[in-house]
Amino acid sequence: MDNKNYKLATKLIHAGVEPDPTTGAIMTPIYQTSTYVQEAPGKHKGYEYARTQNPTRTALQNALAAIELGKYGLSFGSGLAASDAVMKLLNPGDEVISTNDLYGGTYRIFTKVYERYGLKFHFTGMSDASTIEQYINVNTKMIWVETPTNPLLNIIDIEACAAIAKKHNLILVVDNTFASPYLQNPLTLGADIVLHSATKYLGGHSDVVHGALIVNSDVLHEQLAFIQNSCGAVPGPHDCWLVLRGIKTLHVRMDRHCENGKKIAHYLRNHPKVDKVYWVGFEDHPNHDIAKKQMRGFGGMISFTLKGDNLDEAIKVLSSTKLFALAESLGGVESLIGHPASMTHGSIPREERIKNGLVDSLIRLSVGIEDADDLIEDLNQAIG
Ligand SMILES: *Cc1c(COP(=O)(O)O)cnc(C)c1O
Repeated sequence: MDNKNYKLATKLIHAGVEPDPTTGAIMTPIYQTSTYVQEAPGKHKGYEYARTQNPTRTALQNALAAIELGKYGLSFGSGLAASDAVMKLLNPGDEVISTNDLYGGTYRIFTKVYERYGLKFHFTGMSDASTIEQYINVNTKMIWVETPTNPLLNIIDIEACAAIAKKHNLILVVDNTFASPYLQNPLTLGADIVLHSATKYLGGHSDVVHGALIVNSDVLHEQLAFIQNSCGAVPGPHDCWLVLRGIKTLHVRMDRHCENGKKIAHYLRNHPKVDKVYWVGFEDHPNHDIAKKQMRGFGGMISFTLKGDNLDEAIKVLSSTKLFALAESLGGVESLIGHPASMTHGSIPREERIKNGLVDSLIRLSVGIEDADDLIEDLNQAIG
């Protein structure tokens, strides 16, 4: 694709992908190779060894950069491998300020792996970004934001975080997995690094585990590409190809996720047995204005609780859906239902969980792109 300033839907389909030079194949082939033949020592076509470069990965990395409106994309074997690479930018003694309503695996790599290497983490609610500043000291190097958050769908003001990061010369990382580049582009709001678990909406079909980083800065790109190659958490070409294919339909899938999400959020809100419904699109969501400012749609992630916070009732609902599959993960075409207290967030102590609003009866939905009426009927028979 030339550098013309195409709109996002066009970029999603064409960015990074060129007809294969040897055959004209319209889809980038899966270059299943570990090495590349050189004509003479040091004389090659830009590819030497497949940990360092692979043409299928190059196509995907270029596509990722284009759709996140950044300059560089970097692919990893998983979302957490991408987080791991970001952590390796830091040195022992450095401090990170992170949101407290965080993906469980990210919390685990911070506290169980990187604290052992001398990094220090502060966790705070960031619904009001100004709470960040009280944790800043001379050792602070990074602010880590996830928005919307998991599973309580809190919204954090990326521009406000970027202003604080800039003022104190900190790196702002935004995990954009829940929104996807179709709904939110943190680099344009002042973030330095955007992270994706491409396992979720980017891949979109629950068939691949993959991670991505997107940056604008030449320096950050050089450092992260060095870490990617030196530490080697790279994805195979087949996985890159699956993500590249998934990205081509992101816009049509996300439109349907948003449409179905809206219908189901309103259905739940009117259900007599349902207590709280967490969905970014409600006008009375505490940070709905910020969501409207920084997002183009509200997505298909919804959490809800049952009246009386009855765990047995919640387990009954979780065990009786027929279309919503009981499983971890999110962002695929098929609808999933999960129980954060026992599944994704089981490692967080109960008191801590409940203090943050993650009660026993909280149920999380990843609304897929099936027919909304069928999904509502399924929830209706399960909730009773
Ligand atoms: C799943 C997820 C991750 C981790 O990604 P993996 O691909 O599972 O390693 C990180 N952040 C968020 C928000 C996620 O949902």
